[in-house]
Amino acid sequence: MNTIAARLSALTSRIRTAAAAADRSAGEIRLVAASKTFPPPAIQEAVAAGVSDIGENYIQEARDKYAALQGIPVTWHFIGHLQTNKAKYAVRMFDLIHTVDSYRLVLELDRCAQKINKVQAVLIQVNVAGEESKSGVAPEEALPLIRRAAALEHIAVRGLMTLPPYFNAPQKVRPFFAALRRLRDRIAAEQVENIGMQELSMGMTGDFEAAIAEGATLVRIGTAVFGERS
Ligand SMILES: *Cc1c(COP(=O)(O)O)cnc(C)c1O
Repeated sequence: MNTIAARLSALTSRIRTAAAAADRSAGEIRLVAASKTFPPPAIQEAVAAGVSDIGENYIQEARDKYAALQGIPVTWHFIGHLQTNKAKYAVRMFDLIHTVDSYRLVLELDRCAQKINKVQAVLIQVNVAGEESKSGVAPEEALPLIRRAAALEHIAVRGLMTLPPYFNAPQKVRPFFAALRRLRDRIAAEQVENIGMQELSMGMTGDFEAAIAEGATLVRIGTAVFGERS
């Protein structure tokens, strides 16, 4: 289990098992390999082993790696906290930004996307447990933010993301995943024009099976792909 290919193969089979247990098709679940702190050769190794989606947390680190990996056939995801003054770099690199949590940020993303003729796909990050230390909008703020974002021509909202409280027992996290799914269902029922609510970005190495049971479509997994971060 000490190569990326071996870890990935074990992980893929766990994802399939979790999908089957939830009566879902494994094809509905995309693995976003969270590669923060791992250098470009590790990403190349993961891609050679079948990874198609890469998630990065820090803009400067991502810029260096993106430049080193020019043209690599992957979809790039931004999964870290995004400062408004870094929006222009994010828009140039990332296919999907998972962590939009303010109107000010989405407005700036729209402005930067317009400049490069892009429609930027985003998810709204929700702080489901109302933790002080976490980014994300409160659950009741998600729909109002989405309604405002829907009016921006260069933004496409695709769903919701959450980083739930940490527990060492994944079953304790599951209610927070369920809460995000219910919020998604309520917002989808509003049928806001120009937005999609198909994506639920939730689940990491320690809890992705619970997230898949609750409807995750994007699981962000680092350790189980690349090994422990030092
Ligand atoms: C690092 C990170 C992950 C992956 O964490 P692992 O526990 O290594 O799988 C997922 N989501 C976010 C936002 C992260 O920062």
